[in-house]
Amino acid sequence: MRGPALLPVEPPTELEDDLDWDDEDQEPIWGDDLDEGPSAASRDSQSVALRLVPDAAVAVQGDRIVSAGAYQSSLYMDRLMSREAPKWFPGEIAKALERARTWRGLILPGLVDIHCHGGGGQSFPDAATADDALVAVREHLRHGTTSLVASLVTDAPEVLIRQVGLLAELCEAGDLAGIHLEGPFLSARRAGAQDPAKMQAPDAELVRAVAEAARGWFAVMTVAPELAGVVAGVVSGSGSAAPGGGAAAAGEAASGYSGGEAASGKGGGETASGKTGAESVIGALAAAGAVASFGHTDCSAEQMAAAVAEAGRALAAAGARFGRVPTATHLFNGMRPIHHRDPGPAMEAMGQAARGRMTVELVADGVHLDRRLVEAVFATVGWRNVALVTDAMAAAGMPDGTYQLGPAAVTVAGGVARLTGGESIAGGTSHLLDVVRSAWRGGVSLEEAVGSASLVPARVLGLERSVGSLAPGRAANLILADSELNPVEVYKSGRLVR
Ligand SMILES: [Zn+2]
Repeated sequence: MRGPALLPVEPPTELEDDLDWDDEDQEPIWGDDLDEGPSAASRDSQSVALRLVPDAAVAVQGDRIVSAGAYQSSLYMDRLMSREAPKWFPGEIAKALERARTWRGLILPGLVDIHCHGGGGQSFPDAATADDALVAVREHLRHGTTSLVASLVTDAPEVLIRQVGLLAELCEAGDLAGIHLEGPFLSARRAGAQDPAKMQAPDAELVRAVAEAARGWFAVMTVAPELAGVVAGVVSGSGSAAPGGGAAAAGEAASGYSGGEAASGKGGGETASGKTGAESVIGALAAAGAVASFGHTDCSAEQMAAAVAEAGRALAAAGARFGRVPTATHLFNGMRPIHHRDPGPAMEAMGQAARGRMTVELVADGVHLDRRLVEAVFATVGWRNVALVTDAMAAAGMPDGTYQLGPAAVTVAGGVARLTGGESIAGGTSHLLDVVRSAWRGGVSLEEAVGSASLVPARVLGLERSVGSLAPGRAANLILADSELNPVEVYKSGRLVR
């Protein structure tokens, strides 16, 4: 395909340093705004820049991208894009080539959504069959999300395990990239649309049971760091995990939890004393290959810092199958707000993200966050540490009305989903490309907004070598979009899906 394309540009390796870059034809186009000092774990993808190359060509063979670069610089491209080329290739590739010669819109990488509960009238927490769940997958796929993580909401353990088993089928079939559990170890004080009655005390055994049901596809779990049992130091009560004093942190966790009147019958205090020395939830997640995500939390900045440090250590030690840094679940939403003498979890998460130790999710859909805040987060932590997400529920792509989100009834009016009879926002109704457009119109650059919806979330999943960018060897996941970012054609693994 030929047209303006958003391409990754890698800085020179040592080998490339030896090449003669004075040759104008080989002028590299990276380098004027690279950030400094990423952590070792994320250095590779942390150094990739994205550029909108005005006249680019992306060539696809089978299910892979074989070449992507400036059109004029490639003889190979010239041959591929010639009028004769379609004759050399069979079927769909020939059609794509024919299309490519006339396409003048944007070529974008297929998007990666790591927080999505549903769409097209179906939701992952409520799907009775894999086919039901597939309706939601296809709704987002048609709109440019070529890699999707299915998110569940807080529910009873047997419900979670049943749904995880169902979704694992779709992961194995290549329709989903992984499974995310939002809860049930969350703060009832910051429940949002999560059902406080279904929340329970952190339990590493449940993490292991979910991992077993997920058959290798348990990717992310949202937990509240202040709950006893999430961070190892808080379980043992031995002091040092939270710089402000571990014992105080544990006490606050226990009171914070029991204050939620959750109906599990297991108070935080009982967990803290009853499970001394037991594996932390963060440790169990890393052992299962899953990324800890911190959210729906009333924690202090110190507790967030301790959780990020433990998660980073645990993921590095476990050689996790998915990514190497923890995430913050929809930053600002479902969190204690920032106060200048009590900065809380959101401020600490931004500080950690700015140092490459955390990736922060933003639901930048124009509803969940003010656009100025979105712009400020990008400016503060850098796009490489921001993952745009939809947090979409069944109403994505559907009209206003009433819907279900796990145990909760949701009313959608004017495209905004709220708990029926309440004020809490209950997920989003956008596709990820809509979120990219919203961030872009709000002041974030197109390159950064797209990168935060493709390359960054791919890295969160440890998949940045296979999806998330228009680079040779990656899956041929592409969006042809018009200049207002409306999807015109969508390809997954080289196949036209829209
Ligand atoms: Zn959610």
